[in-house]
Amino acid sequence: MASLDTYLASRNLRRPDERTTPDGHDAPLFVVQKHDASTLHYDVRLEVNGVLKSWTVPKGPSTDPREKRLAQPTEDHPLDYATFEGVIPEGQYGAGPVLVWDLGPYRNLRAEEDEPVSMQEALEEGKGEVWLEGQKLKGGYALVRIDDADDRWLLIKMDDDEADARRKPTSTQPRSVLSERTIEEIAEDAESESS
Ligand code: MN
Repeated sequence: MASLDTYLASRNLRRPDERTTPDGHDAPLFVVQKHDASTLHYDVRLEVNGVLKSWTVPKGPSTDPREKRLAQPTEDHPLDYATFEGVIPEGQYGAGPVLVWDLGPYRNLRAEEDEPVSMQEALEEGKGEVWLEGQKLKGGYALVRIDDADDRWLLIKMDDDEADARRKPTSTQPRSVLSERTIEEIAEDAESESS
């Protein structure tokens, strides 16, 4: 399986601990993992200050700005998890197959405003705006907290040139961007390895 280091090398990106100067700072990473645990869902993760800030998105990301997708914050993950693909064993939290559905660099759009806002500040405010450069997802996406008490968020495609109401990539592009496997194939491969 491709490790994070292999992935970073293939994209000419440095590890976060090697990104020293603010000017030479590499774009942070985003990843979307498809995860067939007790229910099928997508986990959307953004690299912020060396960890992966994470949201569970039951229906996954849309390319249609009118489709607002519910996003539930979940625990931070280590950056190396961005390229994890395989099966979480029975008895562990989240047991089931995980597929790297999309992966790539992102930009904090709010850092480019007249009064720049860091990603950390943007998320604390409940209003993240990012530009994704994935293989499936491109363009602006907003992550907006809609309910402080419940900590419920929406993931919304911003209306730009990359918006497309007809694409429906979760249906039409189900395979891993790392291994080109489907989630069923990842489960089958793990089964045949263990038998
Ligand atoms: Mn999950």
